[in-house]
Amino acid sequence: MKMEEASGRPKKVHIDLGQNFAVHLMQHLVVPTFVLDAECNVLIWNKACERLTGIKAEEVIGTRDHWRAFYESPRPCLADLLAQGRMDEAKSLYTQHDNIAEVSFGVHAENWCVMPCRDTRLYLAIDAGPIYDESGRLLAVIETLRDVTEHRNAQTALEKLASRDGLTGVANRRSFDERLANEWMRDRRGRKALSLLMIDVDHFKRYNDTYGHQAGDTCLQKIAQVLEQVVHRPGDLVARYGGEEFAVILSSTDTVGAQGIAQRVLDHVAALEIPHGASELGRVSLSIGVSTTHPAPELTEASLIASADSALYEAKHAGRNRVVAAQGDQAAK
Ligand code: GH3
Ligand code: MG
Ligand code: MG
Repeated sequence: MKMEEASGRPKKVHIDLGQNFAVHLMQHLVVPTFVLDAECNVLIWNKACERLTGIKAEEVIGTRDHWRAFYESPRPCLADLLAQGRMDEAKSLYTQHDNIAEVSFGVHAENWCVMPCRDTRLYLAIDAGPIYDESGRLLAVIETLRDVTEHRNAQTALEKLASRDGLTGVANRRSFDERLANEWMRDRRGRKALSLLMIDVDHFKRYNDTYGHQAGDTCLQKIAQVLEQVVHRPGDLVARYGGEEFAVILSSTDTVGAQGIAQRVLDHVAALEIPHGASELGRVSLSIGVSTTHPAPELTEASLIASADSALYEAKHAGRNRVVAAQGDQAAK
């Protein structure tokens, strides 16, 4: 392309918009892009893709080794899935992917990639679009990549902020409600037992009055730590229900199992020996109500909470520092 100037006015430049120019353009496009032929061989690997992946075009062009730029072991990229009509596998390969009903418009997916040739893990937003000839035959697939790691991390941090209790770091009431509703639906399908612990610190008002509100906060943090230590199965959830009350969801757990966990919580908190001069025991203790149910269509989550609450009330009235289980499976009532 040659630019000439005559009498201060730029002359029109004629660009040959042929195939070479198109390839040149793609190579210099600021969006990381690569193109596969219908057999999944790399045709184009642009400069931005080299920068993003740390892999030079000459290392991958003509090969099917493009996976090496993103993963440590061979696996299809989104463009491969599209080229090979294997979009049904996207669900198991990507953190997020869109509806694959109409692949001819292109597909979108997102994933954490280990980027073996760079010293970093990236969360990539990936778009892949097919290119067909006039007869509808697939010629190539073009894949574009966007590094959205910062956005993803910010989103994760926000989600964490929105779902965690600020003082203790355990789940907040909102995530408790959400999780209980989810577990309820799951166990309703699976017909499994679901247990709930309602936990309340004994004589906590007196604790604050004696040691001050800040010491009270520290005490709540220690109790939350114990709860997270004792309850650690992936499906379970420890939440701050409100004030000095915690709630624990134990999925697929019967009443014997739930009472065992409640007793361990009580024992672990006793072992902390947090001094509480204004209580009968001289140390901080808990009361715990346990309720178990087999979720069923005629029941609601509220019935499980109510029965765990009344078991907790009984524990308080029976002298505190104890576990009381609601009688029988709540579904039988
Ligand atoms: P009981 O044994 O019957 O449960 O008596 P209690 O004193 O623990 O119960 P009560 O409901 O009378 O008092 C609860 C106290 O918990 C009062 C409130 O100030 C304190 N509390 C609630 N949330 C917090 C918190 O975030 N930090 C601190 N330090 N105290 C809190
Ligand atoms: Mg209370
Ligand atoms: Mg209390």
